[in-house]
Amino acid sequence: MGMQESTARRLIDPLGRTIDYVRLSVTDKCNLRCTYCMPENNRDFERRERYLTFAEIERVIRAFSELGVRRVRITGGEPLVRAGIPDLASRLAALPGVDDLSLSTNAVLLANQAEALHGAGIGRLNISLDTLRRDRFRQITGNDDLGRVLDGLQVASRTGFEPIKINMLALRGQNDDEFIDMAEFCIEHGFSLRFIETMPMGTAGRAATDHYLPLSDVKAELASRFDLVPSVMSGGGPARYFRIDGSRTNIGFITPISRHFCDTCNRVRLSVDGTLHLCLGQAHSVPLRPLLRAGIDDEELQNVIVEALKLKPARHEFGEKPEQIVRFMSVTGG
Ligand code: SAM
Ligand code: SF4
Repeated sequence: MGMQESTARRLIDPLGRTIDYVRLSVTDKCNLRCTYCMPENNRDFERRERYLTFAEIERVIRAFSELGVRRVRITGGEPLVRAGIPDLASRLAALPGVDDLSLSTNAVLLANQAEALHGAGIGRLNISLDTLRRDRFRQITGNDDLGRVLDGLQVASRTGFEPIKINMLALRGQNDDEFIDMAEFCIEHGFSLRFIETMPMGTAGRAATDHYLPLSDVKAELASRFDLVPSVMSGGGPARYFRIDGSRTNIGFITPISRHFCDTCNRVRLSVDGTLHLCLGQAHSVPLRPLLRAGIDDEELQNVIVEALKLKPARHEFGEKPEQIVRFMSVTGG
């Protein structure tokens, strides 16, 4: 290790957690209205002039990468409703230090953009899909777009993203008879599949707690059908993985509620208005946009980020204080 590297500043919070991952929300808007994420009549969107521009985003991510961040995920809202995401992606992929650029999308607009996104340097893709049934898709998301999502998936898998992970929220009474079907769909197409517990984010997330299902139930059901071999997957996230024996498909379980993973948290979030959120489930945050627009220099920007980490809470409190997070998931960048 060279002198310069050993003395380089790193983002380590007061609890010793190293932050090497930024989740970047490029919009709070969405072309769907998933019941657990965004209320149907939501009008409370950020004003356009308060969006970080691509140049501002690039500056902030450059500062993070100089502080040791290697992974960036573009998310939202639905990132693909903002124009020019392939352009942003190629700017971020070109930053020295950023070696893992990924995208979370609902895939409604993916078919037309998959190639450009892949060409821009996005390697890994997470696609949210809670059901393979058209009527349920309409019920859960408010739109009749399952066909477009499946087209998007098909184009993406031909385009060479590796891996493609399907994210499925386990929703009691809504999709709890489809876990095996979704696993078989993923085996057929060579996708990985991750199950996620519903979190009480915002009014929509709290309303969905009636549908909360602990993933131990999901795992038991899958284990009755498939041989699950403990496995690991790249991505730096909190999922615990198992490979379905005889297939390429990994199944991941993300259990923010039944078994939280805050002690290994490695990430922070940047919302569309340039607010740095230190925890998905807590209010601690630092607004960067006013500083950027007041002409802060690069060194000072790094200092602000290093200082901000001191605010990172030990853990979320979804269990104890489910009422406290008023932001929707689409604002912080789920
Ligand atoms: N629109 C993109 C998508 O759906 O993949 C990216 C943003 S979305 C907010 C990111 C992830 O957050 C999705 O996988 C979604 O299922 C998840 N999500 C939204 N609300 C949630 C909640 N209340 N609890 C758990 N996960 C949630
Ligand atoms: Fe939109 Fe994604 Fe939220 Fe669904 S989960 S409403 S697709 S941001």
